[in-house]
Amino acid sequence: MAATTVIRNIGSLATGDPQLGPGPLGVLRDAALVIDGERVAWVGPTGLAPAADTALDAEGRAALPGFVDSHSHLVFAGDRTEEFNARMSGRPYSAGGIRTTVAATRAASDAELAATLDRHVREALRQGTTTLETKSGYGLTPEEEARALRIAATRLEEVTYLGAHVAAPEYADDVAGYVDLVTGPMLDACAPHARWVDVFCERGAFDGDQARAVLTAGVARGLLPRVHANQLTYGPGVQLAVELGAASADHCTHLTDADVAALAAGSTVATLLPGCEFSTRADYPDARRLLDAGVTVALSTDCNPGSSFTSSMPFCVAVAVREMGMTPDEAVWSATAGGAAALRREDVGRLRPGARADVVLLDAPSHVHLAYRPGVPLVTDVWRRGERVWHR
Ligand SMILES: [Zn+2]
Repeated sequence: MAATTVIRNIGSLATGDPQLGPGPLGVLRDAALVIDGERVAWVGPTGLAPAADTALDAEGRAALPGFVDSHSHLVFAGDRTEEFNARMSGRPYSAGGIRTTVAATRAASDAELAATLDRHVREALRQGTTTLETKSGYGLTPEEEARALRIAATRLEEVTYLGAHVAAPEYADDVAGYVDLVTGPMLDACAPHARWVDVFCERGAFDGDQARAVLTAGVARGLLPRVHANQLTYGPGVQLAVELGAASADHCTHLTDADVAALAAGSTVATLLPGCEFSTRADYPDARRLLDAGVTVALSTDCNPGSSFTSSMPFCVAVAVREMGMTPDEAVWSATAGGAAALRREDVGRLRPGARADVVLLDAPSHVHLAYRPGVPLVTDVWRRGERVWHR
């Protein structure tokens, strides 16, 4: 029989399940949570908590589900401090900066790429992220993209083939030829190592027809679609994502009314990545508009060395509340259950019986402090699959 742990005296437990308590987060006060092996076995009032092998007193602190960061680019090498510094001095961001990272990534050894990935996964974990998606997209040859995915797949459950990040430098004048590579030999090399297929549908990257070709080829090989859509400009990405039943349209910064209506009518999650607008000094996406239209919204870091070099979901929550019209409850829901929806996962992002025991404790009485106390390292304890993997 698996060992059980009871966490008592949780001041505020955000279950993420409105059937368990008030608000979108289903918040329980003076609560307890029982972990049995890798799963949540019970949640409810501390006074009614069953006995367990181990007991822990939360002393009134808040508990919430581990963050589900559904969008990152962490198989990379190199540093783009100078590009960021230049941009903050007034030069606009363009997608071409990705090629700087491509050159450094191709030159790196497997061990170097793995060490960088591990460092960022640990960094995210200490900030409460227990489920993390990551992508290829800095190799842009069949061998390099497959290498990135192999390295990611040995460490993470959610791995995405993004050969169509930007056309490889060798194909700068032949994007159509590059799409043939991405949908042909590169897909053959990569499909065994990934769950998802993604494309950067954007002016300067891939147009709507090219994005459709990339996604449908991936789907034909058993991959599930997700899309980088409508980040820098208005475009066809969001409606293409909905039409193809993509799990998520990511960025959603420039949306027409028709885009919002399509998201509201479909099953595609709108994943907002405020670290990107922060780091490129751009206008934030309008989360309020999406929520009011009935769209499911996720928050994610987009952690990457170019346009959003943060691994912090608490940072994204704080920005979403301050700048994007979200309530603290909505932002925390989007960073947990919303991220799970964007990855089509039912087992993570909520703390209810049967869910994976991915639990975060804060040095604060409420999850609202994630926005109320921006920049403060509040995460004191993290359990993943029922095991305490971080304690401060
Ligand atoms: Zn991205």
